[in-house]
Amino acid sequence: MNFTKQMILQNAAWAREACDGDPRLFERLRQGQDPKVLWIGCADSRVPAEIVTGARPGELFVHRNIANLFVPHDDNTMSVLEYAVCVLKVKDIVICGHYGCGGVRAALGAPNDGVPHVEQRIRPLRWLARRHRDELDAIADPDERTNRLAELNVLEQARVLRASPVVHDAVPRPQVHAWIFDIRDGLIRALPFEHAEAAEPSYGSDLSHLPGRREPSPIRVANGG
Ligand SMILES: [Zn+2]
Repeated sequence: MNFTKQMILQNAAWAREACDGDPRLFERLRQGQDPKVLWIGCADSRVPAEIVTGARPGELFVHRNIANLFVPHDDNTMSVLEYAVCVLKVKDIVICGHYGCGGVRAALGAPNDGVPHVEQRIRPLRWLARRHRDELDAIADPDERTNRLAELNVLEQARVLRASPVVHDAVPRPQVHAWIFDIRDGLIRALPFEHAEAAEPSYGSDLSHLPGRREPSPIRVANGG
């Protein structure tokens, strides 16, 4: 059986189980959505927002693209943000990157003419890498270098997102969170981003194993919710 057929069968099983576990679920979904969180994440298949956070249908408004970039001149990104903030009135916006990100890794390598749209998309990442060249060049391990740029990228996207008029002028203003998903252990960690939510763990300052790097703190994400 090919995987798409399997997906349809799995969907039917999921719908039955979801209904068994919460008989009013689809009745509620039919009435509309009221998500509290906008999730901006990478399109990578290993980082499915709802699964890694244990969120249920209706709880996350999701936008995913290559390397979780927030691009203010991109209508796709901006329409999602605008709808989430102005219409759905989300209280929190999560930018979630991940270690081992292929888009981030590509931005540290030579341009690939075979994928011009990807190259166009990751151009801001190349600029970001250039801005942090000294720090990145000091990291000998290429995977660690990629992971550090993934962190820097999340922080940069969170900063630009928070400064965007849609977010900045919103009343009440949604909280912006900078998170990174570790594909090595499945945990989400908060990155040191000013005005991070007080409820999130404080950030360690004595765990540096890379120049200028502070180890992000794990977040306890409710699972199975
Ligand atoms: Zn990625």
